[in-house]
Amino acid sequence: MPREDEILDLARKFLREEVAPRAQDMDVDREALKSALDGLCQRNLMALKRPDAFGGPNFSDAGMRHFQEEIARYSGALAFLQTQHQGVVGMIASSENKALHEEYLPHMANGKKLVGVGFSQLRRPGPPIMRAEPVKGGYVLNGLVPWVTGWSFFPEFMIGATLPDGRAVFGLVPLRTVQGVEVSAPMQLAAMSAAMTVSVTLSDYFLAEGRVALVREVGWIQNNDQINIAQQGSFAIGCAQAGLDVLLSNAQKRKLCFAQDAYDQMSSELELLKAETESARLRVSEETVDERLKLRAWQIELAMRCAHAAVASSSGAANSMSHPAQRILREALVFTVSAQTGPIMEATLRRIAKMD
Ligand SMILES: Cc1cc2nc3c(=O)[nH]c(=O)nc-3n(C[C@H](O)[C@H](O)[C@H](O)COP(=O)(O)OP(=O)(O)OC[C@H]3O[C@@H](n4cnc5c(N)ncnc54)[C@H](O)[C@@H]3O)c2cc1C
Repeated sequence: MPREDEILDLARKFLREEVAPRAQDMDVDREALKSALDGLCQRNLMALKRPDAFGGPNFSDAGMRHFQEEIARYSGALAFLQTQHQGVVGMIASSENKALHEEYLPHMANGKKLVGVGFSQLRRPGPPIMRAEPVKGGYVLNGLVPWVTGWSFFPEFMIGATLPDGRAVFGLVPLRTVQGVEVSAPMQLAAMSAAMTVSVTLSDYFLAEGRVALVREVGWIQNNDQINIAQQGSFAIGCAQAGLDVLLSNAQKRKLCFAQDAYDQMSSELELLKAETESARLRVSEETVDERLKLRAWQIELAMRCAHAAVASSSGAANSMSHPAQRILREALVFTVSAQTGPIMEATLRRIAKMD
């Protein structure tokens, strides 16, 4: 089996040679995005955290972060689409449902099995908007999943639904309109519209026990979010790098010394941010929550500033739909809110308002 750095080299080559030239199309054109997703599947890059027992390559956390940063650098839409599926690989691998292991895991790296996710509703305070009632042989699901990315790419998705005792059940549901499942039209979004984000309404949908991957304790998502505060920032870091790539290219093409100076300054800041993020990852605990929230806010704010620098250095052309600077600015928007929690929102606003 190839080593982690060989796989990362393979991914980088694909991203630079085949994804970068088509990134503009991949943001808005489903077929362009589909062909890039197929490219990842053909290279067995869709299940990087899959344990060795199921075929590997069992990437380290650091390897996974590098991959996420690189992919977000070249195409936000592709980064966002593939990460939904990569997350499900881990969920199925940690399931005790052995039949699901057999059915899914061997086929998830090459995309023979592709699965989306829909569990951000578990973060919302107040009465659950997606509920699961235990019944003989499974659960009956009712309610709304407000966000599922990957309609028409992923035939099914891993839903998260709240049980009467506050725990959450995770299971596989079709991502198409069938009896008990109603999928909305794809949302008209400012960024990554090609990734086909929909909402899904379930009405007395029967989730059979055999389709259930996990049941998690009360507060699981809050706990998970707390562990992942800074980890999720890999996409914002990749997006910041994308903005800097445009800035550097403008500095060289237009022979602007001050643009080169801005690039040097912001590039050093990005390196510092990466180093601090790396070090905070080794100290994940209750005591470091504030520190990690500040880092996440910095990741988000720097992505936006680098995108803004890409726009400023591109002049009026940045406003053209075919220009990468405005796409990167819109991608920074998505990476500002994805996997957002109340405390992350607060930390982001405090940083933007220069309150810390
Ligand atoms: C383009 C796009 C695609 C997405 N695709 C997916 C996907 O495929 N799968 C998926 O699971 N998610 C997806 N998401 C969801 C994404 O992760 C959410 O944006 C994120 O979880 C924030 O939730 P929300 O936007 O619904 O905001 P909200 O529900 O408004 O919540 C934001 C945060 O604020 C907190 N909050 C809200 N109201 C209050 C209050 N009154 N008091 C205290 N705290 C409060 C919530 O707990 C939450 O943590 C997608 C989002 C976008 C923008």
